[in-house]
Amino acid sequence: MTALPRIAALAASILLLVSTAFAGELRDYAPTKVAPHTWVIHGPLGDPSVANQGFMNNPAFIVTRDGVVVVDPGSSVQAGRMVLRQIRQLTGKPVTHVLNTHVHGDHWFGNEAIHAVFPQAKIMAHPEMIRAAHDGAAARWLDIMDRLTEGFTRETRAVIPTVPISESQKFTAGGIEFRIHAPEKAHSGTDIMIEIVSEGVLFLGDNVMNGRFGQMNDGTFRGNIAACDRALTSAAKVFVPGHGKTGGSQIAAAYLAYLATLLETVKRELDAGKQDYEMKDTVKARLAAYTGWEGFDLHFGRHISVAVLELEAM
Ligand SMILES: [Zn+2]
Repeated sequence: MTALPRIAALAASILLLVSTAFAGELRDYAPTKVAPHTWVIHGPLGDPSVANQGFMNNPAFIVTRDGVVVVDPGSSVQAGRMVLRQIRQLTGKPVTHVLNTHVHGDHWFGNEAIHAVFPQAKIMAHPEMIRAAHDGAAARWLDIMDRLTEGFTRETRAVIPTVPISESQKFTAGGIEFRIHAPEKAHSGTDIMIEIVSEGVLFLGDNVMNGRFGQMNDGTFRGNIAACDRALTSAAKVFVPGHGKTGGSQIAAAYLAYLATLLETVKRELDAGKQDYEMKDTVKARLAAYTGWEGFDLHFGRHISVAVLELEAM
């Protein structure tokens, strides 16, 4: 072989190696340290897509004395593997617990990757989350992720939590205490919020989003508002939303104000005899501060419909 074809052959085999190693893997997202033992991987805003490979939530992990506790390891087996890669950069300790904040698949399909490496890890969620996942939500969400990513997440299998955890329960992992708040009928009817008092951290799940909107179809405005109130009465200083940047209490206050303003305005319009399509402009004008949030135009009309149904059912 002369030099040129040899170089070409070498280049081709390197290309093959690289593409095999990375085919179907999610790119890395660096974690941000938000408290002494707590890191958050902030996913992109927006809905699952080909561009974001379905990854758009906020996986997090807490490094304890004895191991690692993971919260919401993402929307696919690839997201779970990506989370494990980030953990490996910081510690060789095993994952001992996985907490899933609710049943929406963009938050928990990464369980599969963690379970594969750490089969002893306890996977915990609200009992209603576990029931709903078995009852069809897991299959429905696998399908949604596959469709929106055009097959990127297809190899993912649902590893459904097996350890129920609910309102006011506490557990300790490696010397750190985790406290569960499970507000009823909030974002999805399957929600837990996780408080780590010693870290001043509160994981809100999708009861709070920051700079981005999502669906409300499985929840209620009043329940979600109560969840935000609950978050604001905690002593937490670091608020980790299900989507969007981590911040202080003001991020829960801002989301609460959106929900409360929307519900209150819809009620006034309904009382004035308006149909949902007739109240859109009035409601939108009251929510001017939020029109720049990702997904506003897509979700805001649907939020009005959910609020109307909820108020009519009273
Ligand atoms: Zn959700």
